[in-house]
Amino acid sequence: MEKRKYYQPEIETMPREELKKLQSEKLVKQVKHVYDNVAYYREKMDKMGVKPEDIHGIEDLHKLPFIEKSDLRDTYPDGMLAVPREEVVRIHSTSGTTGRRVIAYYTQHDIDLWEDCCARAIVAVGADKEDIIQVSYGYGLFTGGSGLHGGSHKVGCMTIPMSSGNTERQIQFMTDLGATVLCCTPSYAAYLGESLKEMGYTPDTIPLKAGIFGAEPWTASMRKSIEETLGIKAYDIYGLTEISGPGVSFECAEQGGMHVNEDHFIAEIINPETGEPLPYGEKGELVFTCLDKEAFPMLRYRTRDICVLNAEPCPCGRTHIRMSKPMGRSDDMMIIRGVNVFPSQIESVLLNEGFSPNYQIKLGRVNNNDTFDVYVELPAEQFDDSVKTIAEKERTLKDAMRNMLGIGPSVHLVPPKTIARSEGKAVRIIDERKLHD
Ligand code: ADP
Ligand code: ZN
Repeated sequence: MEKRKYYQPEIETMPREELKKLQSEKLVKQVKHVYDNVAYYREKMDKMGVKPEDIHGIEDLHKLPFIEKSDLRDTYPDGMLAVPREEVVRIHSTSGTTGRRVIAYYTQHDIDLWEDCCARAIVAVGADKEDIIQVSYGYGLFTGGSGLHGGSHKVGCMTIPMSSGNTERQIQFMTDLGATVLCCTPSYAAYLGESLKEMGYTPDTIPLKAGIFGAEPWTASMRKSIEETLGIKAYDIYGLTEISGPGVSFECAEQGGMHVNEDHFIAEIINPETGEPLPYGEKGELVFTCLDKEAFPMLRYRTRDICVLNAEPCPCGRTHIRMSKPMGRSDDMMIIRGVNVFPSQIESVLLNEGFSPNYQIKLGRVNNNDTFDVYVELPAEQFDDSVKTIAEKERTLKDAMRNMLGIGPSVHLVPPKTIARSEGKAVRIIDERKLHD
């Protein structure tokens, strides 16, 4: 049997004109649904003098007010719920990376469309019924586990609902059952790769052929290193709880950006300072409008993720727009001694210099000056190096970081396995400055 290329071919390859028509029809209905059922958003619209009748199609999208994270905090726990409580079949919650949890609600219909999106992502990595998918994203409040689990069922793959953690058991199931696709955060994939290597597995003895990694930023060099240790092709997947979860967009085999599931979500790029919509190709803040969701239908939700949209046709045949990898989110950015620093910059220096991406950044404040320390694990084979060589390596890393960032941290090489491993999203930054403000 020939492998299928798409999960829902008629939608995934729909001509753009038709797709826009579909989006317009859905948008008109959705705005009315939200206006009628969410008092908070109705007041926002009333304040701006916009009525559902003013929205005739996607050309009117910019007339609608934004929803920001602060709105979700203000309406916690259910002020944005748009259906009667008894229609809700599940909730999920953000991982609280930025300190505030958001509760998202789903009807059965909402779960279905979300799982379809994940199924599209799974088929896009070349998986089909005969594949065995190990879902090592956390299950529970986090969307990662349930989303890919549901998608895997829809495709008909054998699903291993591992959840995160217990690395030895992960490896045992992966090798005993011959898992072919691994789904987890890139930081956990790197950790699993490292553990497999230590246990004597080489890329050709690991059954995996593809990985679907997302939920946090990761660099091109990290992708390369995961691909080499696991002997796979690593695909990116993007999503956020507010919009449903993973699968809002996903990479195809071309890997030139992630296709946004545009029949369900309209993507816009805006100038984060002014809120002005920007044309495709320009860098700005990503904003999503949910077209089909019933329970928690976000309209013009500001993600804080900075990226670029590309509407050029993709050789894979999918017509849906592609988004670039988020270039860090605006609130992931550290300001150290007045300089903007993203953890991804530090990570790429480490990988370029031959170190593993196991690091932690500690920020403090002494005499009103920021302290900036980066702790990096030594590769096991360099652990026995002399104190002198280690000091030299620390200096080299410091210089490379200064070149990249404009400021130089104190670099500390520490023994292998001494930095706490994350099983979900990596904890990269410990900022103690806030305690002394
Ligand atoms: P939280 O905001 O608490 O982390 P989520 O778990 O819903 O909540 O995370 C969503 C965020 O994770 C996105 O807004 C984005 O910043 C980040 N993210 C998700 N997938 C990716 C990806 N593939 N690459 C980079 N960042 C991602
Ligand atoms: Zn494509």
